[in-house]
Amino acid sequence: MLHYSCDVCKRPIKTGVEVRHVVKIEVFPAVEDDGAGQATDEADDADHLEEMQELLERLDDVDLEDLDGATRAFRFDLCEACRQRFVRNPLGVKPGKYFDFSKN
Ligand SMILES: [Zn+2]
Repeated sequence: MLHYSCDVCKRPIKTGVEVRHVVKIEVFPAVEDDGAGQATDEADDADHLEEMQELLERLDDVDLEDLDGATRAFRFDLCEACRQRFVRNPLGVKPGKYFDFSKN
């Protein structure tokens, strides 16, 4: 019997007792036909790319060596609790950091 554990919290997932959720992430460079009419979106795309980069850096066990623009596919096993957190915030962006008021 295969043993699974959650890739986020490392907790073992008891298949048969609880549901194992699979997350697949595919990262690939978007190829625009000829760029016509796309120029205005450029800055926005770059922003998302940066977020994705940050996400990938957080995924420790992923080999980042060959992130050279080639298509990359990732697959993760998630427990129910982590699945719920993931679907709410797939990129792991922390909105809370903008409310980090420092008091003296
Ligand atoms: Zn988990």
